[in-house]
Amino acid sequence: MSVSKLARAIATSPTMKLNEEARLLRERGEPVIHLGIGEPKNKAPISALLAAAARLATGDIKYSPSDGIPSLKKAIVRYTEEHYDRIVAPENIIVSSGAKQAIFNLLYAILNPQDEVIILAPYWVSYPEMVKMVYGVPVVVTPEDGSFYPRMADIERSVTSYTKAIIINSPNNPSGVMFSEEFLAQIIEFCERKGIYCLMDDIYHQLVFDGRKAPSCFQFTKKDAESTKVIAINGIAKLYGMTGFRIGWTVASRELTAVMSNIQSQTTSCASVLLQAAAEGALLGIQGIVENLRLHCQNNRDIVMADLKTLPGVKCTRPQGTFYCMPDFRAYLHPAIASNSVQLSEFLLRKARVVTVPGKEFGFEGYLRLSVAGTVKDVTEGILRIKWAIDPTSPNEIFIGDKKLVRDWL
Ligand code: PMP
Repeated sequence: MSVSKLARAIATSPTMKLNEEARLLRERGEPVIHLGIGEPKNKAPISALLAAAARLATGDIKYSPSDGIPSLKKAIVRYTEEHYDRIVAPENIIVSSGAKQAIFNLLYAILNPQDEVIILAPYWVSYPEMVKMVYGVPVVVTPEDGSFYPRMADIERSVTSYTKAIIINSPNNPSGVMFSEEFLAQIIEFCERKGIYCLMDDIYHQLVFDGRKAPSCFQFTKKDAESTKVIAINGIAKLYGMTGFRIGWTVASRELTAVMSNIQSQTTSCASVLLQAAAEGALLGIQGIVENLRLHCQNNRDIVMADLKTLPGVKCTRPQGTFYCMPDFRAYLHPAIASNSVQLSEFLLRKARVVTVPGKEFGFEGYLRLSVAGTVKDVTEGILRIKWAIDPTSPNEIFIGDKKLVRDWL
Protein backbone atom coordinates (compact mmCIF):
# COMPACT_ATOMS: atom_id res chain seq x y z
CA MET A 1 0.00 0.00 0.00
CA SER A 2 1.25 3.47 -0.80
CA VAL A 3 1.10 5.88 2.13
CA SER A 4 3.05 9.05 2.85
CA LYS A 5 6.46 8.90 4.52
CA LEU A 6 5.06 11.08 7.26
CA ALA A 7 2.08 8.81 7.95
CA ARG A 8 4.40 5.83 8.03
CA ALA A 9 6.65 7.56 10.57
CA ILE A 10 3.84 8.17 13.08
CA ALA A 11 3.77 5.59 15.87
CA THR A 12 0.51 3.95 16.94
CA SER A 13 -0.83 5.38 20.19
CA PRO A 14 0.37 2.65 22.61
CA THR A 15 -2.43 3.29 25.07
CA MET A 16 -5.10 3.03 22.37
CA LYS A 17 -3.45 -0.20 21.12
CA LEU A 18 -3.36 -1.68 24.63
CA ASN A 19 -7.00 -0.74 25.19
CA GLU A 20 -7.94 -2.66 22.08
CA GLU A 21 -5.88 -5.72 23.10
CA ALA A 22 -7.47 -5.68 26.55
CA ARG A 23 -10.95 -5.34 25.05
CA LEU A 24 -10.39 -8.36 22.79
CA LEU A 25 -9.08 -10.44 25.71
CA ARG A 26 -12.06 -9.45 27.85
CA GLU A 27 -14.40 -10.41 25.03
CA ARG A 28 -12.83 -13.88 25.16
CA GLY A 29 -13.74 -14.02 28.84
CA GLU A 30 -10.18 -13.43 30.12
CA PRO A 31 -9.97 -11.83 33.60
CA VAL A 32 -8.15 -8.67 32.49
CA ILE A 33 -7.26 -5.92 34.96
CA HIS A 34 -6.72 -2.60 33.27
CA LEU A 35 -3.99 -0.53 34.90
CA GLY A 36 -3.21 1.05 31.55
CA ILE A 37 -6.01 3.43 30.90
CA GLY A 38 -6.26 7.03 32.08
CA GLU A 39 -9.97 7.18 32.73
CA PRO A 40 -12.03 6.67 35.86
CA LYS A 41 -15.17 4.54 35.94
CA ASN A 42 -17.54 7.30 37.08
CA LYS A 43 -20.72 8.26 35.26
CA ALA A 44 -20.78 11.66 33.54
CA PRO A 45 -22.21 14.45 35.75
CA ILE A 46 -25.99 14.66 35.61
CA SER A 47 -25.82 18.37 34.69
CA ALA A 48 -23.84 17.40 31.56
CA LEU A 49 -26.31 14.69 30.59
CA LEU A 50 -29.33 16.95 31.12
CA ALA A 51 -27.77 19.78 29.11
CA ALA A 52 -26.95 17.43 26.21
CA ALA A 53 -30.41 15.84 26.38
CA ALA A 54 -32.09 19.25 26.36
CA ARG A 55 -30.09 20.24 23.30
CA LEU A 56 -30.91 16.96 21.59
CA ALA A 57 -34.62 17.42 22.33
CA THR A 58 -34.66 20.70 20.39
CA GLY A 59 -33.68 18.75 17.27
CA ASP A 60 -31.54 21.75 16.38
CA ILE A 61 -28.18 20.02 15.96
CA LYS A 62 -26.22 22.04 13.42
CA TYR A 63 -22.72 23.42 12.95
CA SER A 64 -21.59 25.74 15.69
CA PRO A 65 -19.16 28.63 15.22
CA SER A 66 -15.77 27.10 14.56
CA ASP A 67 -14.31 28.31 17.87
CA GLY A 68 -17.26 27.01 19.94
CA ILE A 69 -20.77 27.95 21.07
CA PRO A 70 -20.78 31.37 22.78
CA SER A 71 -22.38 30.10 26.00
CA LEU A 72 -19.70 27.40 26.44
CA LYS A 73 -16.97 29.94 25.75
CA LYS A 74 -18.53 32.16 28.41
CA ALA A 75 -18.40 29.24 30.88
CA ILE A 76 -14.70 28.74 30.01
CA VAL A 77 -14.02 32.46 30.53
CA ARG A 78 -15.54 32.03 34.02
CA TYR A 79 -13.51 28.88 34.63
CA THR A 80 -10.32 30.70 33.65
CA GLU A 81 -11.12 33.54 36.01
CA GLU A 82 -11.93 31.19 38.88
CA HIS A 83 -9.12 28.66 38.47
CA TYR A 84 -6.36 30.74 36.85
CA ASP A 85 -7.20 34.13 38.33
CA ARG A 86 -6.99 35.51 34.81
CA ILE A 87 -9.59 37.61 33.03
CA VAL A 88 -9.79 36.75 29.36
CA ALA A 89 -12.27 37.52 26.58
CA PRO A 90 -14.28 34.94 24.60
CA GLU A 91 -11.96 35.83 21.67
CA ASN A 92 -9.10 34.28 23.68
CA ILE A 93 -10.84 30.89 23.79
CA ILE A 94 -11.24 28.16 21.20
CA VAL A 95 -13.16 24.95 21.89
CA SER A 96 -11.87 21.77 20.19
CA SER A 97 -12.65 18.07 20.02
CA GLY A 98 -10.59 17.20 23.09
CA ALA A 99 -7.37 18.65 24.46
CA LYS A 100 -5.65 16.44 21.92
CA GLN A 101 -7.06 18.41 18.99
CA ALA A 102 -6.37 21.65 20.86
CA ILE A 103 -2.66 20.74 21.12
CA PHE A 104 -2.52 19.65 17.51
CA ASN A 105 -4.15 22.90 16.31
CA LEU A 106 -1.70 24.93 18.33
CA LEU A 107 1.35 23.09 16.97
CA TYR A 108 -0.05 23.43 13.45
CA ALA A 109 -0.55 27.16 14.04
CA ILE A 110 2.95 27.96 15.32
CA LEU A 111 5.45 25.58 13.67
CA ASN A 112 7.26 25.91 10.38
CA PRO A 113 8.87 22.74 8.99
CA GLN A 114 12.01 21.89 11.01
CA ASP A 115 11.04 24.11 13.95
CA GLU A 116 11.86 22.43 17.24
CA VAL A 117 9.63 21.77 20.23
CA ILE A 118 11.13 20.89 23.59
CA ILE A 119 9.41 17.98 25.27
CA LEU A 120 10.28 17.06 28.84
CA ALA A 121 10.71 13.35 29.60
CA PRO A 122 8.85 11.52 30.89
CA TYR A 123 6.27 12.91 28.46
CA TRP A 124 2.79 12.14 27.25
CA VAL A 125 3.11 9.77 24.30
CA SER A 126 1.30 11.98 21.78
CA TYR A 127 3.54 15.07 22.00
CA PRO A 128 6.45 13.84 19.82
CA GLU A 129 4.10 12.29 17.25
CA MET A 130 1.98 15.44 16.99
CA VAL A 131 5.08 17.60 16.53
CA LYS A 132 6.22 15.28 13.72
CA MET A 133 2.75 15.39 12.13
CA VAL A 134 3.19 19.10 11.46
CA TYR A 135 6.75 18.60 10.17
CA GLY A 136 8.34 19.88 13.37
CA VAL A 137 11.20 18.26 15.27
CA PRO A 138 10.60 16.97 18.82
CA VAL A 139 13.60 17.62 21.08
CA VAL A 140 13.34 15.43 24.16
CA VAL A 141 15.04 16.67 27.31
CA THR A 142 15.58 14.05 30.02
CA PRO A 143 16.63 15.12 33.54
CA GLU A 144 20.26 14.11 33.89
CA ASP A 145 19.80 13.16 37.51
CA GLY A 146 17.31 10.42 36.49
CA SER A 147 14.45 12.07 38.41
CA PHE A 148 11.04 13.06 37.00
CA TYR A 149 11.74 16.75 37.64
CA PRO A 150 13.01 18.82 34.69
CA ARG A 151 15.99 21.09 35.28
CA MET A 152 16.48 24.50 33.70
CA ALA A 153 20.14 23.76 32.92
CA ASP A 154 19.19 20.71 30.78
CA ILE A 155 16.50 22.72 28.98
CA GLU A 156 18.69 25.75 28.28
CA ARG A 157 21.32 23.48 26.73
CA SER A 158 18.73 22.10 24.28
CA VAL A 159 17.42 25.44 23.03
CA THR A 160 18.52 26.45 19.51
CA SER A 161 17.49 29.19 17.08
CA TYR A 162 14.84 26.73 15.81
CA THR A 163 13.15 26.28 19.19
CA LYS A 164 9.55 27.49 18.86
CA ALA A 165 7.86 26.01 21.89
CA ILE A 166 8.22 24.05 25.11
CA ILE A 167 5.46 21.75 26.33
CA ILE A 168 4.87 21.58 30.07
CA ASN A 169 2.49 19.07 31.64
CA SER A 170 2.17 19.39 35.40
CA PRO A 171 0.82 17.43 37.22
CA ASN A 172 2.44 15.09 34.82
CA ASN A 173 1.30 12.14 32.78
CA PRO A 174 2.96 9.60 33.26
CA SER A 175 4.94 10.33 36.44
CA GLY A 176 2.22 12.00 38.54
CA VAL A 177 4.68 14.62 39.82
CA MET A 178 3.88 18.31 40.00
CA PHE A 179 6.62 20.73 39.03
CA SER A 180 7.67 23.34 41.58
CA GLU A 181 6.50 26.94 41.39
CA GLU A 182 10.15 27.96 41.16
CA PHE A 183 10.62 25.83 38.07
CA LEU A 184 7.42 27.16 36.44
CA ALA A 185 8.43 30.76 37.19
CA GLN A 186 11.88 30.14 35.69
CA ILE A 187 10.69 28.40 32.55
CA ILE A 188 8.01 30.99 31.82
CA GLU A 189 10.41 33.86 32.38
CA PHE A 190 12.91 32.08 30.09
CA CYS A 191 10.31 31.47 27.34
CA GLU A 192 9.09 35.06 27.39
CA ARG A 193 12.64 36.43 27.31
CA LYS A 194 13.53 34.19 24.35
CA GLY A 195 10.20 34.53 22.51
CA ILE A 196 9.41 30.80 22.84
CA TYR A 197 5.82 29.61 23.28
CA CYS A 198 5.15 27.86 26.58
CA LEU A 199 2.36 25.36 26.04
CA MET A 200 0.86 24.44 29.40
CA ASP A 201 -1.05 21.18 29.14
CA ASP A 202 -3.21 21.63 32.22
CA ILE A 203 -5.50 18.67 31.68
CA TYR A 204 -4.83 17.36 35.24
CA HIS A 205 -4.59 20.70 37.02
CA GLN A 206 -7.43 20.01 39.47
CA LEU A 207 -6.40 16.42 40.08
CA VAL A 208 -3.86 17.30 42.77
CA PHE A 209 -3.39 15.52 46.11
CA ASP A 210 -2.56 16.15 49.75
CA GLY A 211 -4.28 19.53 50.02
CA ARG A 212 -2.00 21.13 47.44
CA LYS A 213 -3.13 23.19 44.45
CA ALA A 214 -1.59 23.46 41.01
CA PRO A 215 -0.46 27.06 40.48
CA SER A 216 -1.98 29.09 37.66
CA CYS A 217 0.51 29.32 34.80
CA PHE A 218 -0.59 32.93 34.21
CA GLN A 219 0.60 34.01 37.66
CA PHE A 220 4.17 33.74 36.36
CA THR A 221 3.80 36.20 33.48
CA LYS A 222 3.60 39.97 33.70
CA LYS A 223 2.36 40.15 30.12
CA ASP A 224 -1.28 40.54 29.17
CA ALA A 225 -3.45 38.00 27.33
CA GLU A 226 -2.42 39.36 23.91
CA SER A 227 1.34 39.43 24.36
CA THR A 228 2.12 36.51 26.69
CA LYS A 229 3.84 33.41 25.33
CA VAL A 230 1.95 31.25 27.86
CA ILE A 231 -0.87 29.22 26.35
CA ALA A 232 -3.13 27.07 28.53
CA ILE A 233 -4.83 23.93 27.28
CA ASN A 234 -7.51 22.20 29.30
CA GLY A 235 -10.64 20.08 28.93
CA ILE A 236 -13.39 18.08 30.54
CA ALA A 237 -11.91 14.59 29.97
CA LYS A 238 -9.97 14.29 33.21
CA LEU A 239 -11.73 17.02 35.17
CA TYR A 240 -15.10 15.22 35.14
CA GLY A 241 -14.08 11.78 33.84
CA MET A 242 -15.85 12.72 30.56
CA THR A 243 -13.22 11.25 28.25
CA GLY A 244 -15.71 10.16 25.58
CA PHE A 245 -17.28 13.60 25.21
CA ARG A 246 -14.15 14.90 23.47
CA ILE A 247 -14.20 18.55 24.48
CA GLY A 248 -11.08 20.57 25.24
CA TRP A 249 -10.06 24.20 24.85
CA THR A 250 -7.19 26.62 24.47
CA VAL A 251 -6.63 30.00 26.13
CA ALA A 252 -4.34 32.08 23.89
CA SER A 253 -4.00 35.53 22.35
CA ARG A 254 -6.82 36.69 20.06
CA GLU A 255 -4.48 36.56 17.08
CA LEU A 256 -3.41 32.96 17.69
CA THR A 257 -6.97 31.93 18.55
CA ALA A 258 -8.17 33.29 15.20
CA VAL A 259 -5.44 31.31 13.39
CA MET A 260 -6.39 28.10 15.24
CA SER A 261 -10.06 28.73 14.53
CA ASN A 262 -9.22 29.02 10.84
CA ILE A 263 -7.32 25.71 10.97
CA GLN A 264 -10.19 24.03 12.78
CA SER A 265 -12.76 25.42 10.34
CA GLN A 266 -10.89 23.66 7.52
CA THR A 267 -10.57 20.33 9.31
CA THR A 268 -13.38 19.39 11.73
CA SER A 269 -15.41 22.63 11.26
CA CYS A 270 -16.26 22.65 14.97
CA ALA A 271 -16.65 20.35 17.94
CA SER A 272 -20.06 18.62 18.07
CA VAL A 273 -22.68 21.04 19.33
CA LEU A 274 -24.26 18.28 21.44
CA LEU A 275 -21.02 17.56 23.26
CA GLN A 276 -20.31 21.24 23.69
CA ALA A 277 -23.71 21.50 25.42
CA ALA A 278 -22.66 18.64 27.72
CA ALA A 279 -19.35 20.39 28.51
CA GLU A 280 -21.20 23.59 29.36
CA GLY A 281 -23.57 21.61 31.60
CA ALA A 282 -20.59 20.06 33.41
CA LEU A 283 -18.81 23.39 33.88
CA LEU A 284 -21.94 25.11 35.20
CA GLY A 285 -23.18 22.20 37.32
CA ILE A 286 -22.35 21.15 40.88
CA GLN A 287 -18.61 20.58 41.05
CA GLY A 288 -18.69 17.82 43.70
CA ILE A 289 -17.70 15.24 41.09
CA VAL A 290 -14.27 16.87 40.67
CA GLU A 291 -13.57 16.48 44.38
CA ASN A 292 -14.92 12.91 44.41
CA LEU A 293 -12.61 11.96 41.56
CA ARG A 294 -9.69 13.65 43.25
CA LEU A 295 -10.30 11.81 46.53
CA HIS A 296 -10.78 8.51 44.71
CA CYS A 297 -7.44 8.89 42.92
CA GLN A 298 -5.65 10.09 46.04
CA ASN A 299 -6.94 7.09 47.97
CA ASN A 300 -5.88 4.71 45.18
CA ARG A 301 -2.50 6.42 44.99
CA ASP A 302 -2.00 5.66 48.70
CA ILE A 303 -3.01 2.02 48.21
CA VAL A 304 -0.73 1.57 45.20
CA MET A 305 2.23 3.19 46.94
CA ALA A 306 1.80 0.85 49.92
CA ASP A 307 1.30 -2.23 47.70
CA LEU A 308 4.31 -1.43 45.52
CA LYS A 309 6.48 -1.62 48.66
CA THR A 310 5.75 -5.35 48.69
CA LEU A 311 7.69 -5.70 45.40
CA PRO A 312 11.36 -5.89 46.41
CA GLY A 313 13.58 -3.64 44.29
CA VAL A 314 10.71 -1.62 42.76
CA LYS A 315 11.04 2.10 43.47
CA CYS A 316 8.34 4.67 42.81
CA THR A 317 8.25 8.46 43.10
CA ARG A 318 5.12 9.40 45.03
CA PRO A 319 2.61 11.03 42.65
CA GLN A 320 1.25 14.43 43.70
CA GLY A 321 -1.61 14.31 41.19
CA THR A 322 -3.11 12.66 38.05
CA PHE A 323 -4.30 9.10 37.54
CA TYR A 324 -0.81 7.65 37.23
CA CYS A 325 2.37 6.49 38.85
CA MET A 326 5.49 5.21 37.14
CA PRO A 327 7.47 2.67 39.19
CA ASP A 328 10.99 1.66 38.25
CA PHE A 329 11.00 -2.05 37.33
CA ARG A 330 14.63 -2.24 36.21
CA ALA A 331 15.33 -4.76 38.99
CA TYR A 332 13.08 -7.20 37.10
CA LEU A 333 14.56 -6.79 33.65
CA HIS A 334 16.43 -10.03 33.19
CA PRO A 335 16.35 -12.56 30.34
CA ALA A 336 13.95 -14.95 32.08
CA ILE A 337 11.20 -12.31 32.20
CA ALA A 338 11.91 -9.44 29.81
CA SER A 339 14.83 -7.36 28.65
CA ASN A 340 12.94 -4.08 28.31
CA SER A 341 9.73 -2.37 29.45
CA VAL A 342 7.80 -3.29 26.28
CA GLN A 343 8.52 -6.98 26.83
CA LEU A 344 7.76 -6.67 30.54
CA SER A 345 4.40 -5.09 29.78
CA GLU A 346 3.63 -7.85 27.24
CA PHE A 347 4.70 -10.48 29.78
CA LEU A 348 2.35 -9.06 32.42
CA LEU A 349 -0.56 -9.00 29.98
CA ARG A 350 0.12 -12.53 28.71
CA LYS A 351 0.81 -14.17 32.06
CA ALA A 352 -1.02 -12.10 34.67
CA ARG A 353 -3.67 -10.47 32.45
CA VAL A 354 -2.73 -7.05 33.78
CA VAL A 355 -2.51 -4.10 31.39
CA THR A 356 0.36 -1.65 32.05
CA VAL A 357 2.04 0.83 29.71
CA PRO A 358 5.79 0.45 29.03
CA GLY A 359 7.93 3.36 30.23
CA LYS A 360 9.72 3.38 26.88
CA GLU A 361 6.65 5.03 25.36
CA PHE A 362 7.16 7.98 27.71
CA GLY A 363 10.92 8.20 27.18
CA PHE A 364 11.77 6.28 30.39
CA GLU A 365 12.94 2.75 29.64
CA GLY A 366 12.78 0.25 32.50
CA TYR A 367 9.66 1.77 34.04
CA LEU A 368 5.96 0.90 33.77
CA ARG A 369 3.11 3.37 33.97
CA LEU A 370 0.26 2.19 36.16
CA SER A 371 -3.10 3.92 36.24
CA VAL A 372 -4.78 4.35 39.61
CA ALA A 373 -8.06 5.52 38.05
CA GLY A 374 -9.87 2.17 38.38
CA THR A 375 -11.56 0.65 41.42
CA VAL A 376 -9.74 -0.19 44.66
CA LYS A 377 -10.18 -3.86 43.71
CA ASP A 378 -8.54 -3.24 40.30
CA VAL A 379 -5.45 -1.64 41.75
CA THR A 380 -4.94 -4.04 44.66
CA GLU A 381 -5.61 -7.16 42.59
CA GLY A 382 -3.49 -5.75 39.72
CA ILE A 383 -0.44 -5.29 41.90
CA LEU A 384 -0.94 -8.68 43.58
CA ARG A 385 -0.94 -10.30 40.15
CA ILE A 386 2.16 -8.37 39.04
CA LYS A 387 3.89 -9.57 42.21
CA TRP A 388 2.81 -13.15 41.52
CA ALA A 389 4.13 -12.96 37.95
CA ILE A 390 7.59 -11.55 38.73
CA ASP A 391 8.40 -13.02 42.12
CA PRO A 392 10.53 -16.19 41.71
CA THR A 393 9.05 -17.70 44.87
CA SER A 394 5.42 -17.56 43.63
CA PRO A 395 3.52 -20.72 42.67
CA ASN A 396 3.57 -21.28 38.92
CA GLU A 397 -0.22 -21.44 38.61
CA ILE A 398 -3.10 -19.52 40.14
CA PHE A 399 -6.85 -19.55 39.53
CA ILE A 400 -8.92 -16.41 38.96
CA GLY A 401 -12.45 -17.82 39.18
CA ASP A 402 -12.34 -20.77 36.81
CA LYS A 403 -9.50 -19.28 34.72
CA LYS A 404 -6.04 -20.69 35.28
CA LEU A 405 -3.10 -18.29 34.95
CA VAL A 406 0.25 -19.97 34.33
CA ARG A 407 3.53 -18.24 35.00
CA ASP A 408 6.14 -20.49 33.49
CA TRP A 409 9.29 -18.40 33.24
CA LEU A 410 11.47 -20.27 35.69
N1 PMP B 1 -2.76 15.77 27.57
C1 PMP B 1 -2.45 14.78 28.43
C2 PMP B 1 -1.23 14.91 29.25
C3 PMP B 1 -3.24 13.63 28.50
O1 PMP B 1 -2.91 12.65 29.35
C4 PMP B 1 -4.39 13.53 27.67
C5 PMP B 1 -5.30 12.33 27.69
N2 PMP B 1 -4.72 11.12 27.97
C6 PMP B 1 -4.68 14.59 26.81
C7 PMP B 1 -3.85 15.69 26.78
C8 PMP B 1 -5.85 14.53 25.86
O2 PMP B 1 -7.05 14.88 26.45
P1 PMP B 1 -8.41 14.75 25.65
O3 PMP B 1 -9.01 13.43 26.00
O4 PMP B 1 -9.23 15.93 26.11
O5 PMP B 1 -8.10 14.86 24.20
